[in-house]
Amino acid sequence: MKIQERIYLAGSEQFGLSHAMDCNCYVIDGGSELAIVDSGLGLGVDDICANMSRLGLALDRLRHILITHSHNGHWGGADLLRNKTGATVWAHAGAAPLMADITHDPGIRLNLRFGRYPANYMPQPCAVDNTFREGDSISVGEVRVQVIHTRGHTADSCCLLLDSDGRRSLFTGDTVFYGGKLGILNLESCVLADYRADIGKLAGLKVDNLFPGHGVFVLRRGQRHIDRAIHKLGDFVLPESFFEVNELMWDKDYLRIMSD
Ligand SMILES: [Zn+2]
Repeated sequence: MKIQERIYLAGSEQFGLSHAMDCNCYVIDGGSELAIVDSGLGLGVDDICANMSRLGLALDRLRHILITHSHNGHWGGADLLRNKTGATVWAHAGAAPLMADITHDPGIRLNLRFGRYPANYMPQPCAVDNTFREGDSISVGEVRVQVIHTRGHTADSCCLLLDSDGRRSLFTGDTVFYGGKLGILNLESCVLADYRADIGKLAGLKVDNLFPGHGVFVLRRGQRHIDRAIHKLGDFVLPESFFEVNELMWDKDYLRIMSD
C-alpha cells in the first residue's frame, strides 16, 4: 500500500497485507535505496516481497532492514529478507545480542508456552549487521533516518524520524500508538520508569505522520497522539496499553482462524 511519497506499507497483520503475527512493515523509498522498518515474524516475508514488487519497489533496491526493537514479531523475518535481497540488518546496539541469542527471550518463551506460534514456525536467532544508537543518522538513498532511543517497551526500543517532502514522519515501533496508547506489557523487559524517563525525547518534534508497529497510522497531527502519551505518563494512573484492547494477535483462537 502506498501511503505517501516515499512511504509504503508492505506487511501488516491488521491491514491484511501479510501473516497474522506480522507487525506493520513500512518501506521508505530513498530513490536509489529502499529501507524497510521491521520485517515481521518471518512467515509473511514472501507476502512482503510480493507486495513490494507489486508496488514497483524492486527488491534489489532494498539495502536496509531497520529493526525498531528486539521483539521477534518485528525482526523474525529479517534474516530471510536479507537472504532474498542482500540488504543489511540494523538494530539498536542493545537489541543485537538479544536477537543473536534468543534462549532467554521472555516473549518467545511465553508465545511457546501459550501455543501462539503456528506448527510450521520456530523462532531462529538473527545476526545483526550494523548497530545504531541514540542520535545516529542512517542514510537511505536521498533521505536520512534519525534514531531516537526511547526505552520503556523494551530497553532497546527506538523511534525512527524521517523528514521527506516537507513532512515529518515518526516510526514508533511499539513505543507509541494511535490515540497515545503505549506498549506496556507484563514482561520483565518492559519498564515503566524507563518509559517515563525517555518519552520526553518525543516532545516538540512536530510530527505529522505517526507510523506505529501495529494498528492504524496517522497522517495528520501525529504529534498530538505523542503528546497524549507524554501526558498520560506524567500522571499516576497506569496508562492505557495498546495491547490490552487492540491486539488480537495474542489470542490463540484468532491466530488459529487467521493463520494458514
Ligand atoms: Zn514489541
